[in-house]
Order: sequence, then C-alpha cells, then structure tokens
Amino acid sequence: MSQYQVGEWIQKRCRKCFHNESQIIKVDEKDLNEKTGTLLWCQCPECGLNDHELTPVEA
Ligand SMILES: [Zn+2]
Repeated sequence: MSQYQVGEWIQKRCRKCFHNESQIIKVDEKDLNEKTGTLLWCQCPECGLNDHELTPVEA
C-alpha cells in the first residue's frame, strides 16, 4: 500500500530550474532485491521536467 498518490505534491528540487516542489504523475511499486521501494514519477510545474524519485518503504 503506497502512501503516495498521483496528483500529490512533494518537496523535490527540480534539476533544471531548481523549483522546490514537484507533482506526482505516476506511482510505481517496485521490488528491488530484498527491499521494497516506491518509484515516484514527478513533474516540475515550472519547466515541465519529468523526474523520478525512489522512496524506500520503512518496515
Ligand atoms: Zn523545473
């Protein structure tokens, strides 16, 4: 169960224009070896840059 949802805003600094907020456009649950993480796809509202962020889930 993910704690993140599409459309939510996260604190993330854009690599291109350094805007400090990004909107989640896709949430991917992934199994990474023995750990489970959530891959967040997000988009900067200022320049439109798509980026992703891996957030490990705390057990
Ligand atoms: Zn940007």
